[in-house]
Amino acid sequence: MDTREVIIIGSGPAGLTAAIYTARANLHPLVIEGIGAGGQLMLTTDVENFPGFPAGILGPELMAQFREQAIRFGAEFVTADADRVDFASDPKRVWVGGVEYSAQTIIISTGAQARMLGLDSERQLLGHGVSTCATCDGFFFRGHEIAVVGGGDSALEEATFLTRFADKVTLVHRRKELRASKIMQDRAFANPKIEFRWNSVVEEVKGEGSLQSVVLRDTETDATSELAVTGMFVAIGHDPNTTLFKGHLELDSEGYIVTAPGSARTSIPGVYAGGDVQDRTYRQAITAAGSGCMAALEAEKYLESLGDRSSAG
Ligand code: NAP
Repeated sequence: MDTREVIIIGSGPAGLTAAIYTARANLHPLVIEGIGAGGQLMLTTDVENFPGFPAGILGPELMAQFREQAIRFGAEFVTADADRVDFASDPKRVWVGGVEYSAQTIIISTGAQARMLGLDSERQLLGHGVSTCATCDGFFFRGHEIAVVGGGDSALEEATFLTRFADKVTLVHRRKELRASKIMQDRAFANPKIEFRWNSVVEEVKGEGSLQSVVLRDTETDATSELAVTGMFVAIGHDPNTTLFKGHLELDSEGYIVTAPGSARTSIPGVYAGGDVQDRTYRQAITAAGSGCMAALEAEKYLESLGDRSSAG
């Protein structure tokens, strides 16, 4: 089995940017792109805030272009999920369906998933009125009436942000008390465009082709009611895709990979992380691409240092 210089696990904007950079540096990266190749942008429609596309671009098309650019410089792809890793040995090892790969450096960019309510109708209208990212999609709801689901800082931040565009934002929360910090609560309570629906859960998301309304159930009375909205932002948290790395790398209390401040370095030398798997704050394609680039440049430096060591010895 040949030991590679770089293996990249994950193929969203972070992983594919790392692939472009390491391929152009002649490091012959192998990208284990996963079954859900392309990451969260595969679930969006128009992307209007990725620089370089003044007319906007569809999320899946943007990821296809990232991939094509990586292939142009020689990146190779395995379209399956990594199912086991061993970073304790050198080279580091990664298994994909019983096949073992090894490399001197690993870049992890397995991303995160926005938590969803779990309704079939919600999945069907994702990108057609249902969204998990206000920064990405808020602009499309100028003059609309929309709902935000959740009671944490994300939900309140998104609700407040969305009042820049929407005429009315209804915050739907399953309890009577918010989890969000006091300052975010005060800001939302003071905003005349935000209404609150307490003790309420979304039972159904309705619309032909695009969202038209949500059915809410009052958890105290069990009464249902329909709320006419053209947008529903689900803001009930995110889960980083790090199950594979538990016990192999330092993760924080919520499962995100810990990287050194201002760097893509993880707790294991030669293993780097970029994108949402280590970023709970920005979660944008452009910031993921930026941190994927950092991971690639740091992996390159690390490989150079190994070369210096072996030529010195
Ligand atoms: P979070 O704090 O875990 O809050 C999730 C919210 O969603 C909770 O109110 C929860 O309800 C609700 N929820 C969870 N599952 C649900 C379901 N299946 N159906 C309906 N509601 C559900 O997540 P977050 O708001 O994304 O924040 C994550 C972390 O990032 C937090 O530490 C937060 O402080 C931080 N953050 C900070 C800022 C900021 O400071 N500017 C902005 C965003 C996030 P319950 O309350 O009933 O559990």
